[in-house]
Amino acid sequence: MHFFTYKKNKFYAEAVSIEKIAKEVGTPCYIYSHKTLTRHYAAFDEAFETVPHLICYSVKANSNISVLNTFIKAGSGVDIVSGGELFRSLKAGANPKKIVYSGVGKREDEIEYALKAGILMFNVESPEELRAINKIAGRLKKKAGFAIRVNPNVDPKTHPYVSTGLKKNKFGIETEQAIKEYVYAKNNLKNLTPIGVDCHIGSQLTQLSPFIDALKKTKEIITTLGSEGIEVKYLDMGGGLGITYKDENAPHPSKYGKAVIDATKRLGVTLIFEPGRVMVGNAGILVTKVLYTKQGTEKNFIIVDAAMNDLARPSLYGSYHAIKAVGKNSGKHVPADFKQGEITADVVGPICESGDFFAKDRELLYFKSGDLMAIMSAGAYGFSMSSNYNSRPRAAEVMVKGNKFSVIRERESYKDLIKGEDLAKS
Ligand SMILES: *Cc1c(COP(=O)(O)O)cnc(C)c1O
Repeated sequence: MHFFTYKKNKFYAEAVSIEKIAKEVGTPCYIYSHKTLTRHYAAFDEAFETVPHLICYSVKANSNISVLNTFIKAGSGVDIVSGGELFRSLKAGANPKKIVYSGVGKREDEIEYALKAGILMFNVESPEELRAINKIAGRLKKKAGFAIRVNPNVDPKTHPYVSTGLKKNKFGIETEQAIKEYVYAKNNLKNLTPIGVDCHIGSQLTQLSPFIDALKKTKEIITTLGSEGIEVKYLDMGGGLGITYKDENAPHPSKYGKAVIDATKRLGVTLIFEPGRVMVGNAGILVTKVLYTKQGTEKNFIIVDAAMNDLARPSLYGSYHAIKAVGKNSGKHVPADFKQGEITADVVGPICESGDFFAKDRELLYFKSGDLMAIMSAGAYGFSMSSNYNSRPRAAEVMVKGNKFSVIRERESYKDLIKGEDLAKS
């Protein structure tokens, strides 16, 4: 469910014409719908209203401070994976007591920053990290709350690059060892407080069974810890709930909620969730302008002004994004040798890589040079993964709220591109 719709053949974000935004802000630009963001948060929150829970929005999916602030205002905490994400979250008004910190490679300065900020807990991913946090906390005379991220060896049945809960993945600690580490910490690491057990098995999951399988293992760990005299308050389920990009049948948060609540009855813990994609994915689009069209002997190409540096998902994962015309041109410009109204084409960007594409052999309305195109479901892992490759300034980001819009990140300038660069000393 999102609020990008056609009104009289023109594409709108809530009550603002996309064409109008593109005219004022330029292209490529990301456009987010505030109402969609708050609706997604509410849907997730309502799914767990009958049990104690804390939603910690996963910052890496979309880390713009205005997006963060939207969720924080709605009551959300945040799941961070770096010092930079902590900085953004605090700027956006996050309550430190609702911050969880995940990731396999937390640096000393990052751990120190998080301890000083007073975050809720570290999701610890290795025995060495556990000892490092204990040492730093001791130096700062602080107590660090932690959960061990357990690797339950569950196949999330998703793209291999975003599967994280298998033994061969770099994430978490295997079950048996995790229990040993909790016991070791209890006896030896005096600056740590065990407050949770954490598990995040992957992203874009479209089935519930892997979540439930992982939950079973996490529950066993909580029970075993109880028998060792270690009571944890939180069960962190991670994120990973998928969305519909094309024809995936991703479960609604309410279904996910019901399954999780059923599986955690009488456990007596507060559930933590780290949803990213499901909160922002369908709440954002990437708007780009068609620069040229060209007919090869084997393929038609539509060359647009956005590229893989703006939205990496198609090149990185081969992922599908729906493409819509911003002004429905109903095939008006179709040259005689094209099938009326439609062409099959690759939509590609200007970058010097064959991997720079948004769609392959896609049946589309005929786009002509100057037409605007909306690349749908680009709110998650879109801008946050963007780069300056090919020295392309990063796109502007816009937030639409009802009939108003704000630029929430300016388009980068050429000057921004060389910020901090200098010539070597001679
Ligand atoms: C990426 C990530 C998430 C969010 O995943 P989504 O699939 O976007 O919901 C949550 N927790 C951790 C630890 C992550 O790395």
